[in-house]
Amino acid sequence: MTEPKLAQEPKADLGIKGGQDTKDPDRENPKFLWRSGEMVEWDKATVHISQLGWTAISSVFEGIRAYWNDDRQELYIFHLDTHLKRLARSMKIMRMTSPFPNEELKDAIASLLKANEFRADAYVQPLAYFGGGIPGYLAVLERPGEIVITARPSASGLDESKVVSCNISSWNRISDNVMPPRAKAITNYQNSRYVSTESRANGYDFGIILNAQGKVSEASYACIFIVRDGVAITPPISAGILESITREVVKDLLEKDFGVPVVERDVERTELYIADEVFICGTAVEVQAVGSVDKYQVGDGETGPVVAKLREQFQSVVKGEHPRHADWCTPVYQGA
Ligand code: PMP
Repeated sequence: MTEPKLAQEPKADLGIKGGQDTKDPDRENPKFLWRSGEMVEWDKATVHISQLGWTAISSVFEGIRAYWNDDRQELYIFHLDTHLKRLARSMKIMRMTSPFPNEELKDAIASLLKANEFRADAYVQPLAYFGGGIPGYLAVLERPGEIVITARPSASGLDESKVVSCNISSWNRISDNVMPPRAKAITNYQNSRYVSTESRANGYDFGIILNAQGKVSEASYACIFIVRDGVAITPPISAGILESITREVVKDLLEKDFGVPVVERDVERTELYIADEVFICGTAVEVQAVGSVDKYQVGDGETGPVVAKLREQFQSVVKGEHPRHADWCTPVYQGA
């Protein structure tokens, strides 16, 4: 792998080594981030205050997890290629060209994790934006974007068996002709934020969003599945969801590893109330059982059998231990 230019050599002790003692992502800033071709010290990566907000309008990003495998002493980046492909598609929708081929971004991410000496689960966020003080509301066509990549320790929740409570949000999901959900655009997240703050204010963990047609779309930062009579059902892409990578992984594991049929079709609100199991999935939430929706208990209110085995399998997949899916995991240290 080609190492991107280092603005300054990394120092030996970065204070983020080992263990899962990294729950609070604000605990400490990493040493480096990657900005448009070079590794930059965290504190030196500044932009002018006049750009605040305006550059964000047309920014697109990715959220990628890397999982530490302690037995193998290896950090695996999950579905790196797929995330970078989605980033390129989001940029295309914004009419933003990328000055960096995906291979270079791939190397940059691995090098960044290494430069920060992460030996724990981490969360990586590449962000593409129009630099040079261009207000994001102006029409700019096929202009190159700047790319900044940050990474922070972020422990997986797959070891804890959590069951989350959900409500149906009073907000509707954005749609393709309004703010295309297919683009992972920063501004789309105001929709998710209305939903999550309303849920939090009313004492729920997550909100579930209906689209303008009144059908279930997704949860605020995650996709949703229900299980009814042995069949897993999830809303189609055209329901206003992000083209989720975890959703594809889950479909694959359910069908190929467990023989659970997966159907993509419109899901109605009351189906959530009567489903045997409901779960949400996404890079950040991983796979989490939903114990209640609008205070209707789902199943027995605990993690159901399908979600339980899915979570277990998912954990072995992301740690690079699933033989059928080793190619979904990019090793950081051996890959050097
Ligand atoms: N929907 C939204 C709005 C999200 O932010 C996410 C998380 N990226 C997802 C769905 C799940 O997508 P993925 O599995 O690719 O993380």
